[in-house]
Amino acid sequence: MTAQDDATTLFEQLTGQSPDGIWSAPGRVNLIGEHTDYNDGFVLPFAIPHRTYAAVGMRDDGRIRVASTFADDAPVEVALSELATLFPTPTGEAPAVAEWAAYPLGVAWALQLAGAAGQGVDIAIASDVPVGAGLSSSAAIEGATASALNDLWDAGLDRTALARIGRRAENEAVGAPTGIMDQMASMLGEPDAAIFLDCRTLDANLIPVGIAEAGLAILIMDTRVQHAHATGGYRERREACERGAAIMGVPSLRDVSVDDLARAEELMDDVTFRRVRHIVTENQRVLDTVTTLRESGASAIGDLLVASHASMRDDFEISVPELDTAVESALAAGAIGARMTGGGFGGAAIALVEQGAVHAVSDAVTAAFAASGFASPHLFTVTPAAGARRDA
Ligand code: ADP
Ligand code: MG
Repeated sequence: MTAQDDATTLFEQLTGQSPDGIWSAPGRVNLIGEHTDYNDGFVLPFAIPHRTYAAVGMRDDGRIRVASTFADDAPVEVALSELATLFPTPTGEAPAVAEWAAYPLGVAWALQLAGAAGQGVDIAIASDVPVGAGLSSSAAIEGATASALNDLWDAGLDRTALARIGRRAENEAVGAPTGIMDQMASMLGEPDAAIFLDCRTLDANLIPVGIAEAGLAILIMDTRVQHAHATGGYRERREACERGAAIMGVPSLRDVSVDDLARAEELMDDVTFRRVRHIVTENQRVLDTVTTLRESGASAIGDLLVASHASMRDDFEISVPELDTAVESALAAGAIGARMTGGGFGGAAIALVEQGAVHAVSDAVTAAFAASGFASPHLFTVTPAAGARRDA
């Protein structure tokens, strides 16, 4: 059974009827550019083949009901007119509904705030995006829901507007202070392309990556260490970035260049400086990666990936031993480049590998995890895939 079938089956169990349509949105992996999004900087993600499906049908009583194969608890149902009493969730508090339900209900609420309105709906969700692995199952559920309601409510919002809706749901309904990258990648993805996104202007350019043409593959190494975005470390990093920008007298770290780092080091404490240095150098690495992809192709970006990982491990301090082991063992086994990807504190790393070496690298990573006493990682290759769409 595919995730699309699962969504349909769940919908039929819920309502006794067939859905009016099925929409889906993919997870994403970030090739490079980590924690730069909320600093108004640059990122280079691509959508992956794993998707979240929403089977949706209209109802005529003005209520919205959401169910998911991910959640054992009962479906959550409220009146559309009640959403404005449930959200926004006060900072630091848990949503007034089950957390998973705050994603789709938050999307409906954010659409209402954007002026959209329409009939009540039943939404049944199923996904093959690994949850909590840094592959943005959250943007996938937001993108699938937002695409469905945009069509069914005739809201006419474009993909960038729907990405903003998803982000608003995640920030204000769920209470996770994340940037816009995940939603943009999930909405705008195209086969064989990465999305070069300027997070200040939301200007997005598709960059052909040519990974397959170069005889390469992207290996995802999911450590299965769960990360928790909404808490602790992520918030602390954001605050350090805001502090660093304030000390430098700029609106965001996007406005600090590599040449400014010597001055930054004099002005701030060591921890804040290293957080700043990661963001500033990472922005430059994204620009360099885009140039390198254009001029020399995917096989030439390995060193940039490796430098990105070192910066996250040593300056931003968001890696964990499992991620370091994945990166180091993949490189030792011949990967061209490797880095942790996503918010950090767990989740997944990626390795750029020659297609003929995928098995050898995978075996080496699995062996290194076993030798360290870590749970066995999930390893699979991905190619850049299509963004949000209507499937049926
Ligand atoms: P990531 O986006 O890296 O997978 P997040 O913590 O940002 O991790 O988002 C994961 C959360 O999103 C889950 O804990 C759940 O609340 C929600 N979620 C993701 N996929 C689904 C799904 N298919 N059904 C219900 N909730 C989901
Ligand atoms: Mg997420």
